[in-house]
Amino acid sequence: MASPEDRQMPGDKCPSCGCDAFYRYGKTRHDKQRYLCLICGTQFILDRERAHITDKPICPACGLKMHLYRREDKFLRFRCSGYPLCKTYLKVAIEKTE
Ligand SMILES: [Zn+2]
Ligand SMILES: [Zn+2]
Repeated sequence: MASPEDRQMPGDKCPSCGCDAFYRYGKTRHDKQRYLCLICGTQFILDRERAHITDKPICPACGLKMHLYRREDKFLRFRCSGYPLCKTYLKVAIEKTE
């Protein structure tokens, strides 16, 4: 098993701008590896345990779970459960593959 520090893989992308230019930037308080995007400056974590998009995603900024906030035609909007301390929102495209 690779160490958690080595989980960055070629397919990983910044959740904010979609680029792959980021580097490790410490740990969250939940001991998840955190990354900092060089392009847009977003801090996020990579959550590969996420099986389905309808599951609650992990906040890319603070590592808390996110709650479904609003459902749109092709997107789900999630809000960080740390709100209002953390005002991170996430828009997730609804895929029909699962
Ligand atoms: Zn970015
Ligand atoms: Zn958050």
